[in-house]
Amino acid sequence: MITTALTELLRIRVPVVQGGMQWVGKPPLVAAVSNAGGLAGILTALTQPSPEALRIAIRETKAVTEKPFGVNITLLPTINPPDYEGYARAAVEEGVRIFETAGNNPGKLIQYFKSQGCIIIHKCTTVRHAKSAERMGVDILSIDGFECAGHPGEEDIGGLVLLARAAQELKMPYIASGGFADGRGLAAALALGAAGINMGTRFMCTTESPIHQNIKDTIVKATEQDTIHIFRTLKNTARVFKNKVSTEVVALERRPGGAEFSELRDLVSGARGKLVYENGDPDYGIWSAGITLGLIKDIPTCEELMRRIEAEAEDILAEIGKMVQPRAKL
Ligand code: NAD
Repeated sequence: MITTALTELLRIRVPVVQGGMQWVGKPPLVAAVSNAGGLAGILTALTQPSPEALRIAIRETKAVTEKPFGVNITLLPTINPPDYEGYARAAVEEGVRIFETAGNNPGKLIQYFKSQGCIIIHKCTTVRHAKSAERMGVDILSIDGFECAGHPGEEDIGGLVLLARAAQELKMPYIASGGFADGRGLAAALALGAAGINMGTRFMCTTESPIHQNIKDTIVKATEQDTIHIFRTLKNTARVFKNKVSTEVVALERRPGGAEFSELRDLVSGARGKLVYENGDPDYGIWSAGITLGLIKDIPTCEELMRRIEAEAEDILAEIGKMVQPRAKL
């Protein structure tokens, strides 16, 4: 067993968090992750159409797991502005005590969760933002490298350096996010000072993930070269699966004079992307994916995946331990 600040704080067995994923972080996956060795599956608030629907999703999750699970609230530009406070209040009132926050200006949300005695995992893509969240009093930072699915920020720092910078600068526990999909990644993250890892794309490709089988098969076939960044020109960069729609969006952005968001909206809308997961057509819309696509070769249950990651990391750490000879006494 690997014991870290994360496993102790969240009272979970394996130091792995299933991070928020729009349209994917739903009750069946969240409960399966939480049941698979007791880690904190994260229910994605904005996947639910309203705070009331989030309440129902929380109750559904509780019906199938007694283990801790969290709720993600991401604050980024949206086509229809969500009632963030309503989602936060609904989750707290339903008894959720672990929150993953991400995105811009999370101060008010963090203050509210703190006033309710909740544990806050805050996702950041720069050390500057991490230090600011540290001052706001979050409990754990999720340090998100450029490899990640979705929004990597605009500074393009890969996980290797970002996590080593976190080790230099941060006083509080942090987990490693972006680029993690296996036990080797977990062992590397621990070496970089992290208390665990956050995974998204890897969990999309599990038996319990609520997306179409054809999308899971597409992930298995894909390589690390199958993602693309959209919205670079709008300073809202997002790493998504490289397909007909995302390639068209990038071509529009690269036109002389660029593109306004209004010209891209129908191509990129989340409502359209959601249908990819329902109809199984990987070219139908935009869907988030990290470069861990290249590492994913199968569709295990969450239980199998967690056991494999745990065993792999333990073996690698033990092997590395054997390389170390006791230092000669001076
Ligand atoms: P949406 O349909 O509102 O927007 C689709 C995409 O366009 C998103 O990436 C969004 O950030 C971007 N966008 C919207 N308005 C924009 C603008 N004016 N300028 C630049 N970019 C703009 O998104 P959705 O699929 O309904 O998701 C809701 C929110 O959750 C979005 O902000 C999305 O980025 C975010 N998100 C959350 C997660 C998560 O894990 N929680 C994952 C992916 C995306």
